[in-house]
Amino acid sequence: MGYNCVVLIKQVPDTKRITGEVMNDDGTVRRSALAAIFNPEDLNALELALQIKDQFGGHITVITMGLPAAGVILRDSLFRGVDDAILITDARCAGSDTLATSYILSCAVRKTAYDIVLCGRQAIDGDTAQVGPQLAEKLGIPQITYVEQLTELNAKTITAQRNIGNGWQQVRTTLPVLLTVTSEANEPRFAAARKMMKYKNAMTPIEAERIVRGQGSGISDAEIKKLVDKKCNELEERGLLIKQWDLDSIGADLSWCGLSGSPTKVHRIQSVVLTDKESKTIEPTTNGVSDMIHELMEDKIIA
Ligand code: FAD
Repeated sequence: MGYNCVVLIKQVPDTKRITGEVMNDDGTVRRSALAAIFNPEDLNALELALQIKDQFGGHITVITMGLPAAGVILRDSLFRGVDDAILITDARCAGSDTLATSYILSCAVRKTAYDIVLCGRQAIDGDTAQVGPQLAEKLGIPQITYVEQLTELNAKTITAQRNIGNGWQQVRTTLPVLLTVTSEANEPRFAAARKMMKYKNAMTPIEAERIVRGQGSGISDAEIKKLVDKKCNELEERGLLIKQWDLDSIGADLSWCGLSGSPTKVHRIQSVVLTDKESKTIEPTTNGVSDMIHELMEDKIIA
């Protein structure tokens, strides 16, 4: 008994802290000027997987595609209770749009055992909410999006409550399934102190290489490789080596990855700056609020 859950997690810039100072003149954001955080709704997806494991048993794998720095959210996931963490990092992923991203993730998920694949509803940087549904499509499995609650789960079927904006739907489907999870689903648990002690030194091979390179200059590449292999073997023996895959190890077709696999073309980036002219003062009275709601409905901002 128990379910194999695979959770897709993404490291994102903390977009809540965007100010004029981190914007470039062309409307793009200077990512390096913002703290990198765990995409908030991926924490809800992870919490749901942990609750499934708490209730039924099973195994949780987290996967992220990103830069080596994304090792931080993989360690954070180990602190919270996952069994396995995988970093997909490869320069050939650069320029991937959502189609290429979901293709690469699908190749990685196929290499793992899965009954339930969980994604956040949306990443706070790209903001498209496309990756989860595209991934389900590529895996050829059913999907339930905007999940707020699991109602029932057994070896064959799953029922979940999804938020459809102006109400809720109960949807039942068969396993394996992909869920996209909203921030309303749960309150993510904190990292456990015991697991933090256990996994604080867990790392990916690329992080191990950085440490080895930082320890001495003038060492040949062959010597560095030997030292990195030795460090990785030691980490593996202690259960502290975080898996790292590239596009070759997941058997990805390169024409579907990176820029060549990305049909999205950015036509124009526009900065929208709200000025005082666009603001309006509302009287703090019942009539004032009622007029505002009426106006927002007429403008189709709210339904
Ligand atoms: P959403 O669809 O909103 O995410 C939904 C959920 O999918 C997340 O909550 C998470 O569970 C999962 N998910 C999303 N992305 C990942 C991931 N990487 N790993 C694991 N799970 C994930 N971004 C770059 O970093 N470098 C680039 O060079 C780059 N080039 C781009 C070029 C183009 C033309 C375009 C359009 C985008 C580019 N991007 C690049 C952005 C990148 O495509 C998106 O960040 C990515 O596809 C995810 O889309 P999203 O952020 O809208 O995620």
